[in-house]
Amino acid sequence: MSFDRMWADLAPVGRATTGGYRRYAWTAEDHTLREWFAGEAVARGLGLVEDRMGNQWAWWGDPDADGPGVVIGSHLDSVPDGGAYDGPLGVVSAFAALDALRDSGFRPARPIAVVNFGDEEGARFGVACAGSRVITGAMTADRALGLTDGDGVTMAEALRHAGRAPETLGRDDETLRRIGQFVELHVEQGRALADLDPATSAVAVGTDIWPHGRWRLDLPGTANHAGTTALADRQDAMLSAAQVVLEARSAAVAGGCVATTGKVEVEPGGVNAIPSHVRLWLDARGADQNAVRATVSAVAEVVHRLGGTLREESWTDTTRFDTDLAGRLRTALGADTPMLGTGAGHDAGVLATAGTPTAMLFVRNPTGVSHSPAEFAERDDCLRGVDALTTVVRDLAS
Ligand SMILES: [Zn+2]
Repeated sequence: MSFDRMWADLAPVGRATTGGYRRYAWTAEDHTLREWFAGEAVARGLGLVEDRMGNQWAWWGDPDADGPGVVIGSHLDSVPDGGAYDGPLGVVSAFAALDALRDSGFRPARPIAVVNFGDEEGARFGVACAGSRVITGAMTADRALGLTDGDGVTMAEALRHAGRAPETLGRDDETLRRIGQFVELHVEQGRALADLDPATSAVAVGTDIWPHGRWRLDLPGTANHAGTTALADRQDAMLSAAQVVLEARSAAVAGGCVATTGKVEVEPGGVNAIPSHVRLWLDARGADQNAVRATVSAVAEVVHRLGGTLREESWTDTTRFDTDLAGRLRTALGADTPMLGTGAGHDAGVLATAGTPTAMLFVRNPTGVSHSPAEFAERDDCLRGVDALTTVVRDLAS
């Protein structure tokens, strides 16, 4: 079975002693993964193309003559200390589905491609889905090339170092024209499927990506001596921050959303100084756009009462996958196939926003843990994912 062989091939690439993966864009590990992808394409006699952002496409058939085609695949890069499944499961399953179709003697009426989107996690340059954002024009080439990593290396320098020409980077209409539909299979990054009937919930069809946003919160205080200032005389910005963090939690609970304050800056930042300023960042998401907005409003009210400010840094509305395509997938897979929204971003979301008919398949994750070495999916479930993808591609490419 080609799935097991490919899975074993990828297992050691970029694996740290923690068991987690460090596969960042345009590094030696990334190069190894790209070489692997190219090898899989060539071994199957597929046409290998690299687009204007370095995303890799392996075509069975000629998308320019007989397209647009059906595209499956995902990404091979990882977050810091990421799991084995997020990304690679989609790429390996795509090649395995192609093998299953060929083994069964299937002759596609349309070209089929496996894609490896580069730099999906944004672990090195800070912008997620850089590969799909650049080719769809959601991010300009200038902005992408100027992004820097933790060592101050720009993306332009990293590309040059990897033997690519930064000046070719940009929106790629030729590549976009070749995509008739995109179906991204991905490990589930929550435990919705694990909570359903075990018999019918190994694979779900994606419906949408939750609306999400980021806000910067500034809370004022007055610096003073930690030993000589009476508690009653203090204006402690950290106390305000604590109230805000707790409010974010209770508002999210009330609204059925999720809210996270994972980044904090404190001034002056001394152990023995009362904080004069705290900056924190709020990430809020949820299935219901209005509920997310209401959660943030509740937080804003507390921030304003404490004399602080709240500024929106980004907001993305609900990204809906193509309803017709999702319906077609469900028909092909069976009416009891669960339908699932997700709070995580994906290249599929970027393509959907750009107008490409896009759908997703999620494979059950028994613990729901992701972006961690503990991320997992049972082998049987992975193989059911391959079967589902095979069924879907057979349907779409007939
Ligand atoms: Zn992913």
